[in-house]
Amino acid sequence: MIATPFPAIVIGQNPDGTQTPPVISQLAGPEAIPCPGGNVLVRVAWSSLNYKDALALTGQGKILRSYPLIPGIDLAGTVEDAGGDARFRPGDPVLLTGCNVGEKFSGGYARFARVNGGSLVPLPPGLTLRQTMAIGTAGFTAMQCVLALEDHGLAPGSGREVIVSGAAGGVGSFAVALLAKLGHRVVAATGRAETEGEYLRALGAAEILPRQTLAANTGRPLDSARWTAGIDTVGGDTLAAILRQTRDHGSIAACGLAGGTQLPTTVLPFILRGVNLLGINSVTCPRPLRERIWQRLATGLDLNQLEPITRTIPLAELPRHARELLAGKVRGRLAVEIPA
Ligand code: NDP
Repeated sequence: MIATPFPAIVIGQNPDGTQTPPVISQLAGPEAIPCPGGNVLVRVAWSSLNYKDALALTGQGKILRSYPLIPGIDLAGTVEDAGGDARFRPGDPVLLTGCNVGEKFSGGYARFARVNGGSLVPLPPGLTLRQTMAIGTAGFTAMQCVLALEDHGLAPGSGREVIVSGAAGGVGSFAVALLAKLGHRVVAATGRAETEGEYLRALGAAEILPRQTLAANTGRPLDSARWTAGIDTVGGDTLAAILRQTRDHGSIAACGLAGGTQLPTTVLPFILRGVNLLGINSVTCPRPLRERIWQRLATGLDLNQLEPITRTIPLAELPRHARELLAGKVRGRLAVEIPA
């Protein structure tokens, strides 16, 4: 039985095309969720705050593509009504990341979500709903990067130097933890070396590299080769520098733009060193790979490391935390508790 009304963060559109500020509304029932096409009704217990959510909540980056909309690109909860989808039964624990939810379709910042059954993943054995949202799109993307690097030759236990940029952020924290556990020598590049160095070492970083040192422009098309592989969450000058410093046939997984969307590089890393630049998109990640990623997360992540990475915040405080995240002040992950 669905208790009504229920809380949801709803964003609308002003007559001039700008977004209304995020406000907690009380929706009368699931039929009031602004989400055409969703067949499965999920009772959401946890969501999370990602970089993209922060852009959506603050009206930056044109993330939302339909109004009114409930943002939140991640959600975890239980099936309330399977809506005729034979893959699910009421009470099944499920999760969802990406799949245009929280952008084009309403997402996780509400007690209920109506979503396409094809985008739901059964809760992986060994993980709780909260743990899946501590991981969320950030951890999922970090593992997607790791698998891409492995598919391009990074063998577990390499002991070789791998670089992670934006290391103290959500994707970065998981990238450091996952790569270190897999036996690589992780160099964590961060703009917060003084305050977050200890945190990153506890996650497994062997060395902390100040952001400015990594991204310094030498003016050369190639620099001394150091990285066998890397995960870049920053883009811009940082990614360009990483490419200049990558060893022969090394691979860099590029997933982020926290430092900018430009890529001031030359073709030389690619044609003289055979460097591979691997593009990562977690939103459109095909289902077989999605399941492979969650399976690896369930078995390959040290769950003891989830707690130091994650803080819980209430739905009502999302707008404030979104501003802090975009200012680069959030460490690791923020899991969002949805009021029952
Ligand atoms: P966070 O805000 O948690 O982390 C971003 C980190 O980047 C910050 O913590 C900071 O790390 C660093 N950073 C922030 N601003 C700058 C800047 N101006 N210059 C250089 N570094 C900066 O975000 P997420 O981890 O959630 O996401 C990281 C990036 O990855 C985002 O751009 C996001 O859009 C993208 N992303 C892409 C996905 C995909 O499918 N391709 C999926 C998920 C995320 P530090 O303080 O350590 O330097």
